[in-house]
Amino acid sequence: MKRTANQSVEVITDILCDACGASVVPDFQKEHHDNLNDFSEYGKLNASYGYGSNHDGDSFHFDLCESCFKELVKKVKSMRASNVQGA
Ligand SMILES: [Zn+2]
Repeated sequence: MKRTANQSVEVITDILCDACGASVVPDFQKEHHDNLNDFSEYGKLNASYGYGSNHDGDSFHFDLCESCFKELVKKVKSMRASNVQGA
């Protein structure tokens, strides 16, 4: 005999870019998966600061679509380029 229970489980149905609001999940992924709990093929920006730093224990998490992530990469590259020139 099997005992059953109706449990509601929270599933991820979409992941939106924190910069532009677009979905970071390709349409075919959404069509072929019941949930996106394991989906990890997108840009993520994480930071956590320990005590004693300027951000004292703060943490940041941003999900980013491909084009916004590309912009971010460009920004980092230009920051690096200007630092190299200034040295
Ligand atoms: Zn975006």
